[in-house]
Amino acid sequence: MLRGLLTSLIVALAALALASADSPRKSTSWDLGGIPTEKTHVVDLTYAISGKIPAWPGDERAFETHVIATPEKDGYFARSFSMPEHYGTHMDAPSHFPPGKLTIDQIPAERLFGPAVVIDVRDEAAKNPDYRLMVTRVHKWEAQHGQIPFGAIVLLRTGWASRWPDQARYRNADASGVMHFPGFSVEAARLLVSRGAVALGIDTLSIDYGPSPDFEVHRVDLPAGLYNLENLANLDQLPEAGAFVIAAPIKLEGGSGGPTRVFAILPNQEKR
Ligand SMILES: [Zn+2]
Repeated sequence: MLRGLLTSLIVALAALALASADSPRKSTSWDLGGIPTEKTHVVDLTYAISGKIPAWPGDERAFETHVIATPEKDGYFARSFSMPEHYGTHMDAPSHFPPGKLTIDQIPAERLFGPAVVIDVRDEAAKNPDYRLMVTRVHKWEAQHGQIPFGAIVLLRTGWASRWPDQARYRNADASGVMHFPGFSVEAARLLVSRGAVALGIDTLSIDYGPSPDFEVHRVDLPAGLYNLENLANLDQLPEAGAFVIAAPIKLEGGSGGPTRVFAILPNQEKR
C-alpha cells in the first residue's frame, strides 16, 4: 500500500517536472496517490548556499566558488565550488557517527522519500532555547494524528528558521561560546527509531540541542541506520501530518554527508 503510494508519487513528480519544463501546470492524467496533481503544492525546504549563511563554528568562510569559464573568454559560464559536507541545508549520512555505516552515496533511494511527521515545538523553544523534544510530546502527536508511520521523516519545527540568516542569533552562543538552540532528546530519538522512522530533521544547526557536548542523539539514530536533515527551511509551511518529503542529497562517493535539496509535497494548494 505504502509502496504503491510512493511509486505513484514519484511518477507524479516526474510528470510535474516534465510538465513545468514548457508550460505552467496543465491538467494531466497523473495523480498523486489518488489526488490530482493540480491539487498539490510543493514546498522547498532548502536554503540557498552561499558564503554568508550561518555555519557550524569553524566552517565559516569554508564555502568558495571560482569562475572557471566566462562567456567572454569561453563562450559559456561555469564555476567550481568547494564546501564542507555539513554546511547549509544538508544530510548527515549514518557513517558520520560510527558505528553508523552507510556513506551518503549508499543510502538506498527508497529511504530518501517518506511521509512527513512535523512536531511543532515553537512555543516550548521560545520559552527555553535549550528545549529537547520529549517522549510525551511525541505521544501527543500520535494522539492527534495516529501512530508515526513506518518510514517517516520526522521533522522538528522549532521556529529557529525565523533567525536565519543571522548567524549570531541562529547559533545563540553565550559568553563562553556554548550554543543554545533546541533539539531532539535521546529518549525521543529512541522512540522514533523504534517506530521505523528513516530520518530526523530540524530547522537548526543540529538535531542535538546546542549545549550538547557529545552529539548524543547523533550517536543513537545514525548507528541505527537513520540519516539527519539539518538547517531545514520553510517548515512553517507544512501541516503536522499529510505531507510527503523527498530528500535528494549529493551522491558523493564515501561522503559523511552533503548538501541536500529537500522538498515537501502537500496534498492541497493551501499554504499553512
Ligand atoms: Zn550534519
